[in-house]
Amino acid sequence: MKRVIVTGGAGFIGSHLCKALLKAGNSVVCVDNFFTGREANILGLEEYGHFQIIRHDVVDAFFIEADQIYNLACPASPVHYQADPIKTLKTNILGALNVLELAQKVNACVLQASTSEVYGNPLEHPQTEKYLGNVNSIGIRSCYDEGKRAAETLYMDFHRTRDVDVRIVRIFNTYGPNMRPDDGRVVSNFIVQALTGVDITIYGDGSQTRSFCYVSDLVDGLIRMMNNENGFIGPVNLGNPGEFTMIELAQKVIDLTNSSSKIVFCDLPSDDPVRRKPDISRAEEYLNWKPTVWLDEGLKHTIKYFDDLLSKSRAER
Ligand code: NAD
Ligand code: UDP
Repeated sequence: MKRVIVTGGAGFIGSHLCKALLKAGNSVVCVDNFFTGREANILGLEEYGHFQIIRHDVVDAFFIEADQIYNLACPASPVHYQADPIKTLKTNILGALNVLELAQKVNACVLQASTSEVYGNPLEHPQTEKYLGNVNSIGIRSCYDEGKRAAETLYMDFHRTRDVDVRIVRIFNTYGPNMRPDDGRVVSNFIVQALTGVDITIYGDGSQTRSFCYVSDLVDGLIRMMNNENGFIGPVNLGNPGEFTMIELAQKVIDLTNSSSKIVFCDLPSDDPVRRKPDISRAEEYLNWKPTVWLDEGLKHTIKYFDDLLSKSRAER
């Protein structure tokens, strides 16, 4: 049995990761400040094994004995990471520093949840890990993009100069159950809008693209990356290479929910990447990983989750 820390474990991806790790027989400590995380996401996880929740902000150093650390703490939706951009930078940089120093002290392997945002508004398509990115250092997304880039630098420097065992994963847009209804990202926005019959808000003309990975595939990739025995530290892209415009996504959600919602076009936020699609050959080669859940199937599971959640909250009113 391994002792595993998951920072950000009460969030969307973190909660699925905690459950998968517990089911595999590990002992899990979730460290979270509950900024975007929710107790409902992790309620009952102790049923699956030894599970502990510690309310703590990773900006402050902490000490817990562990064999492995997954560092997921950071708001991921633009709405939430832009709400207090200075705090987002602190979470990314000081959080990374604190988990790396902890990993060094306790001799743990530490995995960083990095992001496709390190490629910014990419000029290469699809994006391989060799692409160095096209990132605006002074825009409204920079607190997140540059924070994650600085974190990657810290990971590599701790690895090179202090021999810390690290893993860097660049996650592309991931969706699924346990997202908040007010998360603000496109999949949850469109589904909640479709289910409640309000207008579906496309930002810009909707021709921008994203590649959407279902959460179970992503979690499988994270665990494979942590446990790989090839000495492979990454960075590695994890995402689903299927590429869709936001108009295509909206239409799919309308069809799958049988919704009467209309599409409306709103202002495009600045620095919104025009297109994004992972090249996953590295993940295939080193981790024998590729996604298995395609968009229609993943959307059906996610729609069911939101439908149940909204019905429950209507019943409680
Ligand atoms: P999320 O917002 O649902 O979860 C983030 C979790 O981190 C929440 O539980 C939140 O309360 C916690 N947190 C935030 N700041 C913290 C702090 N200072 N101290 C302790 N806990 C803190 O987001 P998510 O989608 O689950 O993303 C998880 C990780 O994966 C993030 O690091 C994110 O940057 C990365 N990522 C996600 C995606 C995606 O599409 N979901 C894409 C790229 C990268
Ligand atoms: N988007 C949209 N309507 C929404 C929310 C987002 O059209 O209600 C667009 C957004 O402008 C972006 C894409 O959907 O082009 C993905 O946005 P999200 O916030 O999910 O992730 P990110 O921009 O970080 O990839």
